[in-house]
Amino acid sequence: MAAYDIVALSAFSDNYIWTLRDATHAVVVDPGEAQPVLDFLAREGLQLAAILNTHHHADHVGGNAALLARFPVPVFGPRDERIPETTHPLAGGQRFRLPHFGIEFEVLDIPAHTRSHIAFHGDGLLFCGDTLFAAGCGRLFEGTPRQMHEALVKLAALPDATRVYCGHEYTLSNLKFARAAEPDNALLPELAARMERLRAAGGPTLPSTIAQEKASNPFIRVHAPGVIASASGRAGRPLTDPVSVLAEIREWKNNF
Ligand SMILES: [Zn+2]
Repeated sequence: MAAYDIVALSAFSDNYIWTLRDATHAVVVDPGEAQPVLDFLAREGLQLAAILNTHHHADHVGGNAALLARFPVPVFGPRDERIPETTHPLAGGQRFRLPHFGIEFEVLDIPAHTRSHIAFHGDGLLFCGDTLFAAGCGRLFEGTPRQMHEALVKLAALPDATRVYCGHEYTLSNLKFARAAEPDNALLPELAARMERLRAAGGPTLPSTIAQEKASNPFIRVHAPGVIASASGRAGRPLTDPVSVLAEIREWKNNF
């Protein structure tokens, strides 16, 4: 298999279109806009080999049609009529090989942000769209706190070194909330300082890793005493189960 790099193409105000590229080809994940991809392909002299979509939101699939007009490539995504361009509808447990690159991805069902949200995991990489963010998680538009908890448990069970490519640059604001949700987590100020330096240098704070998320993300750390205490304080009653803790801090974050 050819070596490849992963490039962050920026779209809208804070979306990333993660792009695998080698000397001749590229694959894009969640192209909400076509133009940044078309510009990149032209500049680098690359052909598009495939499109991957994690969920149907316009800021993740809005560029599909214009890219397909130029490059009629396979589109791998969830089985959901709201993404009409999909050529390879997928469900959890399925595996497929990425055209040209040959990487084998397994598909993970992670409904919660949307009901058909999936993630792609393979070759030490995780593309998780708007479900898991660095130090945060997606909003519950079409799912429940229990589904989000189950999704995050599934992702947290991946190998520690897995590189986590999220759909948005939300890390600094997420870390601000994480520090409120788990004030006794000594890693958080240090991590925030490191991430601020990355942003100041003009780069992304991503990828994260599963190890970093297990150590810092309050939505994964729903068993940590500090997270339970602040969630219970906010609820005004002791919260004992992880789903209630997640529900409380998700609600808190919505108004943070
Ligand atoms: Zn979304």
